[in-house]
Order: sequence, then C-alpha cells, then structure tokens
Amino acid sequence: MTQAATQPHANTDSDWHLCYLGLGSNLANELGTPSEHIKQAVTQLQMHAQIKNVRLSSLYASKPMGPQDQPDFINTVVELQTTLEPLQLLAVCQQLEQNAQRQRLRHWGERSLDVDILLYANQTIQLPTLTVPHAGIKARNFVLVPLAELNPYALIDGIAVTKYPLTHEQSGLNKLTEPPT
Ligand code: AMP
Repeated sequence: MTQAATQPHANTDSDWHLCYLGLGSNLANELGTPSEHIKQAVTQLQMHAQIKNVRLSSLYASKPMGPQDQPDFINTVVELQTTLEPLQLLAVCQQLEQNAQRQRLRHWGERSLDVDILLYANQTIQLPTLTVPHAGIKARNFVLVPLAELNPYALIDGIAVTKYPLTHEQSGLNKLTEPPT
C-alpha cells in the first residue's frame, strides 16, 4: 500500500460545493428577534466544520406571501461552500430551524426561521424531500434581489439571476442593511 493511500482523505477544491441558502424570519420568541434568529443561524453555519467561506447579503424586509395578518419578513441570502451532500445540507437547514424553535402554526404563516436551499452547485435535484433550484426561487423578489447582490452570475436553470424579471417591480421589498464587508 502506498503512503498516500494510508493518509486520511484531504478535501480538494472539487469537494467544496458552492451553494446558496435563503433565510427568512418574521416571528420573535424567547431566543430572539427575527434579525437575531438570522444572525444566530449564520453564526452556526460559519462554525460548521464542513462549511466555509460564508457570505451574507444585505437584510431585506418583505411583505408576507401568505396570510397578510402577520408581520413583514426579514430575508437574506447566504453564499457558502460545503462538503455536505444535498440531503445532509437540508438536514443542517432543518436543524437551524429547530434551533430557532420553529413551530408550524399555519401554511405560509409566521415563523421564527425558514431556511431553504436555493442553489446547490448548478445541480438540478428532484427528490421527494428536496427540489433544487428551490421551486419558488424565480418568482420571489426577496430571493432574486439578495442573490443577485451576492452573485449576479449565479445561474437558475442555466439563466443568470439578473435576467429574471422582478415581480411587481420591487414593491414590498426594502433593504435594511448593507452587506457586511
Ligand atoms: P417549508 O415549509 O418552506 O419549511 O418547507 C419545508 C419542506 O420543503 C421540507 O419538508 C423539505 O423537505 C421541503 N423542501 C423541498 N425542497 C426544498 C429546498 N430546496 N430547501 C428546503 N426545503 C425543501
């Protein structure tokens, strides 16, 4: 056996997949306000051993898509590189939601944290529990705008994010912060 074969596997560049997550919150609880839920989730991503190079877009306020008798959402998009496989990354996203004590109150209703996989390394994934690119990505300004801010060349189904028309111009979407440097 060669020496190389006995050494532990070191990750190469091709093991790191460039991914984008969409984060949203419109419900405070004892763990924090909506923007605190988002910051705590980003911190957990930064600390994950199989995630690196985490970048955050500006924070945006957006009108809810479902019932209108709920607070506006705070949204952001996170860019990261990961050695996690898609379903492993989905499990991490769902763990972040649980860590924010997310409860399912009503469909498209208020939530302490929602974390979706928007894009996973230009892959198209159709599994019972995972659709990538995320099914709603093209019709949601609160995803398209922060995603384009992080990477205007990001491809959704082979087309650059900036080529998708914003629905209703940018009404209902307000930038709250500049991206952290
Ligand atoms: P939601 O109510 O938005 O939190 O939806 C959660 C469900 O969507 C979970 O059961 C996931 O398995 C499923 N799902 C499908 N595609 C995705 C995706 N790209 N990102 C996150 N969840 C997804």
